[in-house]
Amino acid sequence: MLGVFVKHDRLGSPRLVLVLKGLPCSYGRCRFCPFGLEQGSVRDVIETNRGIVEEALREAERLAPERVSIFNGGSFQELPLLVASWLAPLTRGRVVDVESIPGMVTAETVESMYRLLQPRRLVIRVGFEVYDEEVRRRLGKDFPNTEVYRLSSLRKELRGRGMDVEILSYVLFGIEGISEEKVMESVEKFNELLDGVIAVRYHRYLPGHPGETRVSSVLAEYLERHTLYVDWGDEEWEIAGIKPGGGGT
Ligand code: SF4
Repeated sequence: MLGVFVKHDRLGSPRLVLVLKGLPCSYGRCRFCPFGLEQGSVRDVIETNRGIVEEALREAERLAPERVSIFNGGSFQELPLLVASWLAPLTRGRVVDVESIPGMVTAETVESMYRLLQPRRLVIRVGFEVYDEEVRRRLGKDFPNTEVYRLSSLRKELRGRGMDVEILSYVLFGIEGISEEKVMESVEKFNELLDGVIAVRYHRYLPGHPGETRVSSVLAEYLERHTLYVDWGDEEWEIAGIKPGGGGT
């Protein structure tokens, strides 16, 4: 759901979550992705996000959050620059999360985001979802593991240049096609190579998307212990009026 949400969780208390309207994701091939339902034209993105950022500024004034998470259903670098330029008063001096596909995370793009947002720490969340390349490719994510290794080195290089930058991976669970063993293997590998993992419980929104699977208590406990955060799907997961898990058959 587009808007501003206040969270009290392991990532920050309070933490402000902005779900902005985005332009269509330029990658756009992930077989499970519902974000197209909330994307719009440049004019729509600018008009809708103006109100969301204004609300977020009011909430930040009231709550002084430690951390601000900014999502736009795609890569942050694809937001219109005008919208991105409104964010500095919100992000300056704070821990800031953004999302990106791996190919858009380069020294140049990270430096520009850092300059623009002026964060205390910039946390870039990348959706590798699963460590096994073949399983990832079957989900429509054609990102090879060489990208994981490239980002692993890049974050060290950026820190060497004085930027406080972390790169995390999402790991998707509860989805057909990724076994629980593969989920655990992914958490282990991304923890080793990157700065941590956010585990995301998959929800099906549209017929034709992969089905949801049951999550065992063993996996649930493992994820709570070995990841930075387990996202089971809160109110911001309602997309274009469809609630998590409401994707039909
Ligand atoms: S990269 Fe992200 S926004 Fe783009 S299609 Fe894949 S999951 Fe959706």
